[in-house]
Amino acid sequence: MTSESSNQENIAVAQNTVVTFHYRLSTEDGNELENSHGGDPMAYLHGHKGVIRGLETAMVGKVAGDSFTATVQPADGYGLRNEEKQQRVPIKHLRVPKKAKLRPGMIVGVETEKGPQQVTIVKVGKFNVDVDSNHPLAGKVLTFDVEVQSVREASADEISHGHAHGVGGHHH
Ligand code: ZN
Repeated sequence: MTSESSNQENIAVAQNTVVTFHYRLSTEDGNELENSHGGDPMAYLHGHKGVIRGLETAMVGKVAGDSFTATVQPADGYGLRNEEKQQRVPIKHLRVPKKAKLRPGMIVGVETEKGPQQVTIVKVGKFNVDVDSNHPLAGKVLTFDVEVQSVREASADEISHGHAHGVGGHHH
């Protein structure tokens, strides 16, 4: 260890550090889903499930200035697809504006026994729609191109809240 190890800039990502990063998220086929460049970086408190598991694992040991690509399998991302999560529901149970034009691929709210839930419309009929309640990214292999902007020790407040504060994090 050199004397520089106490420098904030050299802190590596570990439990209870706050990480800010820019990222580009794409699916395996190269379809870009999200891109933080041009806006605020994303911030999260490491070790508190602030980002999906596959990305959090890939972050361990990285320092400010590091760039890397993480390929995240569904089990470490948004889970596997469950084909039983497709069902037919009456259009009147959807939480959409009265005159909304329903189309396959639309994400809408629906009332279920477990409360409101976000679903993707698969097929539209006259009175019913077939919906898929899997997370839209379930079953997908995801690629994150990451640039770590900063890594710092979390404050006691952040650790007790379980999330990062400040730019890209939570504001109270
Ligand atoms: Zn908080």
